[in-house]
Amino acid sequence: MAFNIIVCAKQVPDTNVIKINPKTGTLIRDGVPSILNNDDANALEQALQIKDKFDDVKVTVITMGPPQANDLLFECIAKGADEGILVSDRAVGGSDTWATSNTLEAAIRRWVKDNGDYNLIFTGRQAIDGDTAQVGPQLAEKLGIPQVSYVEEFEIDEDRKTVTVKRQLEDGYELIEVALPCLLTTIKELNTPRYMTVAGIYGNKEMKTWNAKDIEVDLTKVGLEASPTNVFRSFTPAPKQPGVKIEGDTENAQAKNLLIKLKGKHVI
Ligand SMILES: Cc1cc2nc3c(=O)[nH]c(=O)nc-3n(C[C@H](O)[C@H](O)[C@H](O)COP(=O)(O)OP(=O)(O)OC[C@H]3O[C@@H](n4cnc5c(N)ncnc54)[C@H](O)[C@@H]3O)c2cc1C
Repeated sequence: MAFNIIVCAKQVPDTNVIKINPKTGTLIRDGVPSILNNDDANALEQALQIKDKFDDVKVTVITMGPPQANDLLFECIAKGADEGILVSDRAVGGSDTWATSNTLEAAIRRWVKDNGDYNLIFTGRQAIDGDTAQVGPQLAEKLGIPQVSYVEEFEIDEDRKTVTVKRQLEDGYELIEVALPCLLTTIKELNTPRYMTVAGIYGNKEMKTWNAKDIEVDLTKVGLEASPTNVFRSFTPAPKQPGVKIEGDTENAQAKNLLIKLKGKHVI
């Protein structure tokens, strides 16, 4: 049986280009190019590196989104993935993270029915538009498998029963050994994503589209109505004021100048 890896990837607007409408506070998505979410490119790259190392690896990319998310699947396949699945249905449109992870869970359970068990699931740490970093951990919870987030180094043992990962923390790191199957969320330090290849672009690999019925998802748990989160307002934070350098030849002089400035601002 193949060693099955599932990568969940999201098509996102290129945030280098996107702007916020100052009047409505909503994102101006019109005319903005869509890209493979950055962390998801690292997730796919890690899956492909395992495929490079072992003979019998199958990499499947699953995305939930509108029909144009097929472009993302095309790109992932052109980089080396074996299969791409788009989950697209009006019923799942407007989903928040909870509803998104319900949809992805249902899609993965459908995939298992067709293909047998998966060994590893990768997601990115977070999407550059939603930025919540919730979908990966929620998905692992719903599937009942162990998870490690913020993975910056990865090693798989030769018999592929466990993986050892380095997990980034704010002030250090953790080295964790996890039994498979598990879900890992990846960050940019993990690897450098590869480019598409000509063979990949012209290859003949499978792309499927599933609707809500295909994945037998509970319709009361997906879509806008079922989503418990509401975006109240989006805005661009005001740029920070430049800092002030406190001058003085000695530490005492600097401290004195600092006190003068604070007094001037009536802070003390
Ligand atoms: C009320 C409401 C309505 C919304 N309506 C829409 C909408 O109509 N269209 C829309 O695009 N967004 C919509 N969103 C945003 C949506 O909630 C999030 O984009 C989505 O749930 C993923 O959350 P995130 O972007 O924070 O992902 P994160 O949790 O930051 O993503 C982590 C990782 O999960 C995986 N992942 C996340 N989303 C997907 C996906 N769709 N397919 C595959 N893998 C994925 C990726 O690997 C990603 O790196 C809505 C949000 C709210 C609150």
